[in-house]
Amino acid sequence: MTTHTQHSVIGQVVDAVERVLADASRPVPLHVPNLGGSCGKYVSECVETGWVSSAGAFVDRFEQDIAAYTGAKRAVAVVNGTAALHIALLMAGVKPGDEVLCPSLTFVATANSITYANAIPHFVDAESTTLGIDSPKNEEYLDTIAEHRGGSLVNKATGRRIAALVGMHAFGHPFDLPAAQRLCQRFDIPLIEDAAESLGSFVGDRHTGTFGEVGILSFNGNKIVTTGGGGVILTNDEQQADWAKHITTTAKQPHKWAYEHDEIGFNYRMPNLNAALGCGQLEELDSMLARKRALADRYLAAFEGLDGARIILEPDGTTSNYWFVTMILDETNASRRDDVMGALHDSGFLVRPIWNPMHTLPMYRDCPRMDMTMTESLASRVINLPSSAHL
Ligand SMILES: *Cc1c(COP(=O)(O)O)cnc(C)c1O
Repeated sequence: MTTHTQHSVIGQVVDAVERVLADASRPVPLHVPNLGGSCGKYVSECVETGWVSSAGAFVDRFEQDIAAYTGAKRAVAVVNGTAALHIALLMAGVKPGDEVLCPSLTFVATANSITYANAIPHFVDAESTTLGIDSPKNEEYLDTIAEHRGGSLVNKATGRRIAALVGMHAFGHPFDLPAAQRLCQRFDIPLIEDAAESLGSFVGDRHTGTFGEVGILSFNGNKIVTTGGGGVILTNDEQQADWAKHITTTAKQPHKWAYEHDEIGFNYRMPNLNAALGCGQLEELDSMLARKRALADRYLAAFEGLDGARIILEPDGTTSNYWFVTMILDETNASRRDDVMGALHDSGFLVRPIWNPMHTLPMYRDCPRMDMTMTESLASRVINLPSSAHL
């Protein structure tokens, strides 16, 4: 503590994190996976039987396990969450040249997937309790800039159809789903849930990713459950699920030998090896959720009464998976964020800032967007804390 006084927000945050992670060996990474239990056994089974690639029993089992856990009728496993988003947009009827409403405060994959669908991201602002989309502000905005023409919602300035809204559950905290559902109903557009970060997060007793027309999960290496790399598409529509399976497996018609492809498909299916790891990981999910909640409780206690920074709580009526425990500085301390992160890194805590807003990235700077006051404020103040379940 040479560069800051005991009472500065920097010193207080470092002390609070020190109290929570006193026993952890330094440096403490942001998030590491937990590969115990049956993970090794299931992966070895793939190697021993030779079923390592695009067919095998673990893919079916993983899809069934995810459907059972989330309550979605169907889960379609794919290579990663970004691919899942790409297909989800197509399932929701997004067409080339459409605009898709999406948060600016998100991981870049949300916006990229819209680009892969040859559509244009149209960025919307966030709100501070969930870090998710601000539906009331969005409603006012759409009333001003959009109108219904011939059955479509159209952006009056660009003349393009606004085809869907993608919401994202940031760091596991559910955004206000009832408000987003009302908004989408009013403007007659489908809701797509980027639930990449929220496996194990619920609104009431219903799992995130099952409220919209279609939802996705990610199993990237840093997510709560990992398959090495992977994703799933969640839907209650059997026909849509069958179509998703079809176009993610090169749109090949089932046949003993013939290469019959009936549309342009994608090679997006999840390999059996990855699904095997996922099946092992899912057996650990309940225990990981419990340990992450206990860790979040310790952070909450350590930050209590702290002046100038706080932990972002799970929203009322929801259960968050607390994937990343997240702190936010008061507006008066926004300019000190990098100093806070520097001091935490100096103490061996490998914290990360929230993403740069999409509308500030070079490739998305010119996309349509609304006022971004809250997004910009949050982007300057939010820090993710070390959140591995074993801590
Ligand atoms: C991780 C993540 C994705 C993409 O998932 P991948 O499996 O890494 O492709 C998409 N959206 C959000 C919000 C994410 O955090």
